[in-house]
Amino acid sequence: MKKIMAVNAGSSSLKFQLLEMPEEKLITSGIVERIGLKNSVFSIKFNGTEIEETFDIENHSVAVSILLNKLLEMKIIKSFDEISGVGHRVVHGGDKIAESIVIEDEDIEYLESIIDLAPLHNPPNLIGIRAFKEILPNVKQVGVFDTAFHHSMPEESFLYAIPYEWYEKYKVRKYGFHGTSHKYVSHRCAEIMGKKPEECNVIVAHIGNGASICAVKQGHSVDTTMGFTPLEGIPMGTRSGNIDPAIIEFMMNKKNKSAKEITNYLNKQSGYLGVSGLSSDSRDLVNAAEQGNHRAKLAIDIQAKRIADYIASYYVYMGGADAIVFTAGIGENATSTRENVIDRLSVLGAKIDRERNNCRRVEALISTDDSKIKVYVIPTNEEVMIARDTLSLL
Ligand code: AMP
Repeated sequence: MKKIMAVNAGSSSLKFQLLEMPEEKLITSGIVERIGLKNSVFSIKFNGTEIEETFDIENHSVAVSILLNKLLEMKIIKSFDEISGVGHRVVHGGDKIAESIVIEDEDIEYLESIIDLAPLHNPPNLIGIRAFKEILPNVKQVGVFDTAFHHSMPEESFLYAIPYEWYEKYKVRKYGFHGTSHKYVSHRCAEIMGKKPEECNVIVAHIGNGASICAVKQGHSVDTTMGFTPLEGIPMGTRSGNIDPAIIEFMMNKKNKSAKEITNYLNKQSGYLGVSGLSSDSRDLVNAAEQGNHRAKLAIDIQAKRIADYIASYYVYMGGADAIVFTAGIGENATSTRENVIDRLSVLGAKIDRERNNCRRVEALISTDDSKIKVYVIPTNEEVMIARDTLSLL
């Protein structure tokens, strides 16, 4: 039995779970928020109670040190030696890293060299790795990459039809994201169906604030909707997903803005928020749509159409699929969105059972018995994947 820490470090936050492996038993979990700001918040759940404390935490090293000392103070561990490994979620592994790795100094150098591929995400991930390395120098730090699962995509899926030199020289290609979630959910789906991952084709719809679809053929990603960055694909909470790239120059001229400013609109002012003019949160849109708000309904329908379009295209690409799985905040909770998407796929023989679909955040089969494709809800669990990979590399 080993205790593994799974860490997800953001620019001002640090989420953690301590798991007992290989049993995959959650020991404690929590989050440090507002790191580097006044009134940082440290919260931890253990043995059915939740403790929340507010004080100033100036950086991630201090956050890690407070967290580890709290584990001792609360007698969750007796000494730091009990932590066998720390697994870190890292968003971008570039075109070199195809699987989880033990992070050595040269890997940190490589990850630094590709920061321009994920300028918002990789720097805080690296800060988290450094902070744990400093405080637990003898404990192995493992990197689990969002892009890694998609390394199995064939060239025809990951290459854009742009000058080939852009790919060779500047590594412009589709990388794909949410890989840890797509892998966990598709493999769990196979298990639920009583099959091995290599015995089935699964289409995963990870629909949260960020959202992507993945075609998982015989256990491996063969295409996904996010691309060079997490902006590509289906519309999301605030991201546009695919648009005609010519719109960028057109709007730069109309609004007298830089490319960076327009890209910012596409990342932060589009999607649900942009179309509805109301909110980036699906709950707000579902409520508003129910009360007759046309633009809220439109924002939901534009996304549902695109999700269905991609599912249908992946169904054809893989030569059929055994299952479609919904996961993440919206996929696990929004019954109406699941209905909206599956109803659009009736030509493929997919049929939703409205009673079975009336469920949230649980593993459930939501298709009818005569549906040609099984449809499931499977809550994602990236932390368990991180802990599994960390354990296997120790
Ligand atoms: P995530 O990024 O996976 O945390 O997902 C966030 C999204 O999930 C937000 O748009 C939330 O509104 C949505 N969500 C969470 N709970 C519900 C719910 N009960 N019904 C509909 N959407 C939900």
